[in-house]
Amino acid sequence: ATPTAFMAATGRGAQLGVLIRGPESLERLQGIDTIVFDKTGTLTTGRMTLAETTVDEGASADEVLRLAGAVEYGSEHPIGRAVVTAARQAASEGKLPSVTGFRAVPGTGVSGVVDDRQVFVGRPRPGTKLPDTLQQALDRAETAARTGVTVEIDGRPVAVLAVGDTLRPDGYAAVRQLRKLGIEPILVTGDGPVAARAVAEQVGIEEVHAAVTPEGKADIVTGLRADGCRVAVIGDGVNDAAALASADLGIAMGGGTDAAIGAADITLVREDMQAVVAAVRLTRRTLTTIR
Ligand code: ADP
Ligand code: MG
Repeated sequence: ATPTAFMAATGRGAQLGVLIRGPESLERLQGIDTIVFDKTGTLTTGRMTLAETTVDEGASADEVLRLAGAVEYGSEHPIGRAVVTAARQAASEGKLPSVTGFRAVPGTGVSGVVDDRQVFVGRPRPGTKLPDTLQQALDRAETAARTGVTVEIDGRPVAVLAVGDTLRPDGYAAVRQLRKLGIEPILVTGDGPVAARAVAEQVGIEEVHAAVTPEGKADIVTGLRADGCRVAVIGDGVNDAAALASADLGIAMGGGTDAAIGAADITLVREDMQAVVAAVRLTRRTLTTIR
């Protein structure tokens, strides 16, 4: 295409709330046939709230929340923000204790030392035997399409926090329209299989990969490309950065983390899924003359 065609398409994209980095991104957008969607923060709003707190015998819910909120304070993850909000509401004067040795592991959780205790909040470790009340709380969270995370204090699981999210309203229509354009949608998430399936069904996606690590997400993208697919990834989190960078085209949610936006070729400023559809149509309409 002529430079004028690229400039016109980029300008039109900007009006749609789609920020496109460079003419190559436009051409790659035109050619994609597969879109890998992240779940939390992408198909869902990412504005999570704490729906249920279950503590093991002998533990106090307020105390667990105080410690969990303190370690999540440094997290950019929607789960972290939900826990901090709830912890602040429960704390006196909204104050949370300070943390040392804070560590965030994308796709896993956060840890740190609070009041001389080692605290971990995150994905239930596979293979650990949980007390019955906590295991039941995890199962309940899954059935309700919520995400259940465990809180460990000094290595002992003491609570399950169930956080819930809401779907973005435009996912279903966008997925349908992408299919009409010959683009196959796939859901790849770090969350568990039941929550993943529930969201996939509601937006009309059939292929689902759940409990995938951030590196696993990138591997799936690389595998699809090796099979000849031209793959776009759409995500928001630190955990999506590697997959975004491995794709033919990375698309970041505008409200996402800096890591995601930095790794992407396109940013959806208004977080409007329909804008992706509009942008694909736009490139096919305005750039076809060249090919
Ligand atoms: P998604 O792919 O749906 O965006 P992530 O890869 O970010 O999910 O996270 C996968 C899992 O890791 C979450 O479902 C949760 O169990 C755990 N996790 C990640 N970050 C955090 C956090 N800050 N606090 C608690 N759990 C977390
Ligand atoms: Mg996400």
